[in-house]
Amino acid sequence: MNYNQNSYALGSKRSIIREIFEYSKVRASQIGAENVFDFSLGNPSVEPPKEVIDSIKELLASENQTLLHGYTSAQGDLSVRTAVADNINRRFNANVTPNNIYMTCGAAASLSICLKAVVNQGDECIVFAPFFTEYRVFVQNALGELVISNPDKDLQIDLKDFESKITPKTKAVIINSPNNPSGVVYTESVIKSVCDILRKKQAEHGNIIYLIADEPYRELVYGDVFVPYLMNYYENCMVCYSYSKSLSLPGERIGYIAVNPQMTDSQNVYLAICGAGRSLGYVCAPSLFQQVVKKCIDAKVNIDAYKKNRDLLYTNLTEFGYDCVKPDGAFYLFVKSPDGDAYSFYEKAKAKEILVVPCDDFGVKGYVRIAYCVDYNRIKNSLAGFEKLAKEYGLIK
Ligand code: PLP
Repeated sequence: MNYNQNSYALGSKRSIIREIFEYSKVRASQIGAENVFDFSLGNPSVEPPKEVIDSIKELLASENQTLLHGYTSAQGDLSVRTAVADNINRRFNANVTPNNIYMTCGAAASLSICLKAVVNQGDECIVFAPFFTEYRVFVQNALGELVISNPDKDLQIDLKDFESKITPKTKAVIINSPNNPSGVVYTESVIKSVCDILRKKQAEHGNIIYLIADEPYRELVYGDVFVPYLMNYYENCMVCYSYSKSLSLPGERIGYIAVNPQMTDSQNVYLAICGAGRSLGYVCAPSLFQQVVKKCIDAKVNIDAYKKNRDLLYTNLTEFGYDCVKPDGAFYLFVKSPDGDAYSFYEKAKAKEILVVPCDDFGVKGYVRIAYCVDYNRIKNSLAGFEKLAKEYGLIK
């Protein structure tokens, strides 16, 4: 074979989520979009804030279009990185400077860069199940080995299991809260314990274990739920942030990496991040959207619609007898298959034109994910199907 087999394998096998999404488009053309209840994709259903749209228009009407659309520094424009650093310091008191910030094409790029920056061949990277399946790809690309830490019954981190998974080869731990696919926010007490364990293991093994916080859903939390900022709890931490969900800009590919200035050899790790960005071709994040971020640094999407969707879906599905984890954040509901088989639940729901994602690949067996970032009416109109299915499963009479 002339081409790379790993890349071929990744390109030729679509993710299950994409598969379902493509099916939904075909099905919609057959029976009408209003009759297909597609809950597969985590694409925001809320518009970007008006401030963002206005800023894009203003920038596009401004004088120096050559500069606006030109290359910036590889790590991002200094004034943009300054605005990001100021925002982090205002909110989390973290003492970061622009020289700790690397602008990226969203969290996917941020994660790929961070892993490439710190992982050597054969190093182990721990992820907490359930986890975003692309972590497998990013870790593999950095030549690391993925190690899965199992959750407790509430889908929080099982601290004993986590500790047992750390070996002298552990180089990085990825933590994603609010979580995709469960919607769970890890509590402060769990986070503190994770960090204590990491410090203990670093001392025991005489090496550094990096904590990589994957935070595309930080701003999507419902009610008074506290999302700890991991830099404030652990020195060797880097944060992968994205504006995909917080500003509803997933197609524009913009986010950043923030490296904790308290990290051991912080500036060298930052240089490794610059080098990893360079080797992956992730330099100079989209210039226009760097400027949008700078202008709208404190903007947030209105998450009322997501909360309304969550409440409607969670209340009804639990009433129908489904076992669901109440999501405190993100826009996903994680539902246990009544017969323990995620794929049969997926197929039975599909027969009622309801498209959910079977989640065995996310590291826990027997669950499906419902992405509720959709129109309220899609949820309302799908409830009859969910109810019928509950009857078939014998959850209700
Ligand atoms: N991490 C998690 C947990 C996600 O759910 C996603 C996207 O859905 C990403 C990373 C990638 O986000 P981005 O669009 O910023 O690349």
